[in-house]
Amino acid sequence: MTAERPLRVAVVGSGPAGFYTASALQAAERSVEVDIIERLPTPWGLVRLGVAPDHPNIKAVSRAFEKIARQPGFRFFGNVEIGRDVEHAELTRLYDAVVYSFGAETDRRLGIPGEDLPGSWPATAFVAWYNGHPDYQHLEFDLSGERAIVVGNGNVAVDVARMLALTAEELAPTDTTDAAIEAIVGSGLAEIVMLGRRGPAQAAFTPPELQELGELAGADVVVDPLELELDPASAAALEEDRATARRNFETLGDFAARQSDGKPRTLRLRFCVSPVAILGDGRVEAVEIVRNVLVADGGGAIRAVPTEEHEIVPCSIVLRSVGYRGLPLAGVPFDETRGVIRNEDGRVVDEGGRRIDGVYCAGWIKRGPTGVIGTNKKDAAETVELLLEDDRAGVLDTGSGRLEDLLAERDVTVVEYPGWEAIDSCELARGAEQGRARVKLTSWDELLACARQVEPLV
Ligand code: FAD
Ligand code: NAP
Repeated sequence: MTAERPLRVAVVGSGPAGFYTASALQAAERSVEVDIIERLPTPWGLVRLGVAPDHPNIKAVSRAFEKIARQPGFRFFGNVEIGRDVEHAELTRLYDAVVYSFGAETDRRLGIPGEDLPGSWPATAFVAWYNGHPDYQHLEFDLSGERAIVVGNGNVAVDVARMLALTAEELAPTDTTDAAIEAIVGSGLAEIVMLGRRGPAQAAFTPPELQELGELAGADVVVDPLELELDPASAAALEEDRATARRNFETLGDFAARQSDGKPRTLRLRFCVSPVAILGDGRVEAVEIVRNVLVADGGGAIRAVPTEEHEIVPCSIVLRSVGYRGLPLAGVPFDETRGVIRNEDGRVVDEGGRRIDGVYCAGWIKRGPTGVIGTNKKDAAETVELLLEDDRAGVLDTGSGRLEDLLAERDVTVVEYPGWEAIDSCELARGAEQGRARVKLTSWDELLACARQVEPLV
């Protein structure tokens, strides 16, 4: 009796969605070989390059991903970008099935005048910079002014505001890049202001993340009690609430009642205000904001509606944290409105809703840029269940050829898993020398040179 041919699946993107997809495939009843293809020389996606460096316990989820990478039949193809090194059509020819889990690489726009003035940045870039993403290290964030404005009321906005407020002692043990530590510690910032377009009852941040803002060594958190006054619709919504909004509201009430401790920086949370223009002569000097009122739209949602009340808030830097956005991949149907691959529960479909056999998606590029790391586990399991169902139904075409041969023909330097392990060891050793968790390699040259010390496997 001959052994069953393994199902061969390419997973594009090595963030949580990619690794949870691999894990669900490894748990299948039939044998499966999984190749994870990643454009960077390093795995883990936003766990390495998004999650805040002062939250090492969250980053430790990579330990679980390491176990997945050690399973038989798993291979990592780092430094390979789909759409640049290999096309979608080539990938589908090589493999029995392809799962796209390449995340949301860019930012949602505000669409207001002055958005592109020097000094106005998407949070996506700032986060990638302080986390050591090799594509963002040339950026120079000028933190020399007195006030920074962070637009948005989600957990990324909270991360960005908190990172700006950390002290040298708080940053020292983290794997924040040296350039970012230097800029933050040496900054002239006296005030960091977060702008929420809706009210305290609609904020998207979660209670532990909000509470943490009240425990910073170098910044007093400030909330104006007047901005916590609830409109009737919000009061009613809070009555029925889900614990999240109620707990946030209680925490904000506690912040509003606090006296200043005289810490060097102030972190001010504002509500029901939207930026309408970013102002400045050649660079950011202020943000014009408008006060909003909240209106229940009849369908259960509460919307912000602008009033005539405007205010100019001087500042030297604006960090726009109003959400990430997925980018299309040539040849793969894309929903421009939502910034996701067109799909039904993870099966990729064309504009007419017809399934594209053998092509799937998972994670942020499937459902949009929301949800914590764990959300991607259920999401990936759903996709894999459908993929295996299609396999059983005989829908998948058998792939032919080898990715490694195609990449060798094209002279692409692949960073395999041992290459990543060399990078990892080097970063941990550099960290140990300085009493820090890790000191990241942050340039393509350094990363590739370190990975090249390992003999290629394929
Ligand atoms: P990603 O993690 O973005 O992974 C996508 C991967 O695909 C990346 O490695 C990318 O390089 C790769 N890729 C992109 N294009 C290509 C291509 N063409 N070819 C090959 N590879 C490609 N959740 C928590 O639970 N706790 C937190 O503390 C937390 N903090 C966060 C902080 C920030 C700033 C952000 C943005 C998110 C945070 N999240 C947190 C949410 C969590 O990170 C996401 O839910 C999760 O990372 C989404 O997983 P993903 O695999 O879909 O995308
Ligand atoms: P998010 O949670 O969707 O928050 C986006 C914020 O931007 C919302 O407050 C939204 O307000 C606001 N916004 C959108 N458009 C706006 C506009 N035009 N003007 C003003 N404000 C606008 O997204 P995120 O913060 O990028 O986070 C992404 C996901 O990662 C979330 O699920 C988050 O929980 C997760 N994450 C988790 C952690 C953690 O667990 N510690 C850390 C970081 C990120 P409205 O509500 O009014 O639309």
